[in-house]
Amino acid sequence: MSSGVETKEFQTEIRQLLDIVINSLYTDKEIFLRELISNAADAMEKVRYLQLTGADVKDGDLPLEITLTADEETHTLTVADPGIGMNREELVENLGTIAHSGSKEFIKRLAEGTQDFKLIGQFGVGFYSAFMVADKVELYTRSYRPEAEGCLWSSDGSGSYTVEDTPDLVRGTKIILHLKEDARDFAKEETLKRIVKQYSGFVPYPVLLNGQKV
Ligand code: ADP
Ligand code: MG
Repeated sequence: MSSGVETKEFQTEIRQLLDIVINSLYTDKEIFLRELISNAADAMEKVRYLQLTGADVKDGDLPLEITLTADEETHTLTVADPGIGMNREELVENLGTIAHSGSKEFIKRLAEGTQDFKLIGQFGVGFYSAFMVADKVELYTRSYRPEAEGCLWSSDGSGSYTVEDTPDLVRGTKIILHLKEDARDFAKEETLKRIVKQYSGFVPYPVLLNGQKV
C-alpha cells in the first residue's frame, strides 16, 4: 500500500458527470448540501449500528452530530461527521468509480440534456454535486477501524484526484468546499440555515452551524 501523494484518474462516467456538474446552469445548486448531509447521516447510522452490535469502533465517545463551518473570509464551507469514515481503498472505490448501471444511465440522460439534476441523490452519485458550488473539494477521512490510516482526497473536479495518507485524524469525514466565486453565498450563515431547514429537516441527527444548532 502506498502512502505518498497518488494521483488517480476518475472513471470515464464520473469524468462525464463532473463535466456536466461543473458546467451546469442548473439553478437549484443548493441541493449539494442535502446530498452531503445525507451522506453524513448515513455514515453515522452505520457507526450507530456497529456500536449496537459490539464492534470495536475508533473514537467511540464522539457525539453523533453533523458540523457545518462556514467562513466568509476564506470562502469555504466545511461539512464534518463522525461517521464510519473510509480507508484508502474504500475512498478510491467510493469516490472514484461507479458500479451501478442505474447511475451510468442517469449520467447518459444528463448528457442528453434532461433537467432531472435534482434526482442526482437517487442515482448513487450525490457526492459529486459538491462540484456545482466548489472549484476544489478536500475530503479528510478516517475509518472507524482501529488500525486504519487517515486519508486526504482532493480534486478540482477535472479528470483526476489525489489521495494521500494523513495522520492524526479523528474518526469520520470532513469535507472542505472551496466555493466558486458565484457560490460564495454558501458561506453565509442565513443562507445555510435556510437550506438546512428546507431540505434536511428530517435528518435524525443534530446539525450544528458555526457551533449553534440549526
Ligand atoms: P450514495 O450516497 O447514494 O451511495 P454518493 O455519491 O452520495 O452516493 O456517495 C458515494 C459513496 O461515498 C457512499 O455510498 C459512501 O460509501 C461514500 N461516502 C460519501 N460521503 C461519505 C461520508 N461522509 N462518510 C463516509 N462515506 C461517505
Ligand atoms: Mg449520497
